[in-house]
Amino acid sequence: MPWRVDERTCIGCSVCTDASPEVFWLDEDAGFARVKAPSAPEDRPDCREAGRGCPVEAISFTEREEGGETEEES
Ligand code: SF4
Repeated sequence: MPWRVDERTCIGCSVCTDASPEVFWLDEDAGFARVKAPSAPEDRPDCREAGRGCPVEAISFTEREEGGETEEES
């Protein structure tokens, strides 16, 4: 999952959901943000703004699943 929120670190401040509401949403019951569009491009401006704006650096982007050979055959 490329775009990711560390649920243990997130404080539910909603900076990311304000910056990029199409990609992040705030699970108010759980008290932290979740990703609803994890495959959004890394260079998407609103996602980068969300990542920069997060006060606890809970947002990360990884190229692919850790340890997985996830390339699809075509
Ligand atoms: S900006 Fe960071 S701390 Fe705030 S809700 Fe988003 S992930 Fe959580």
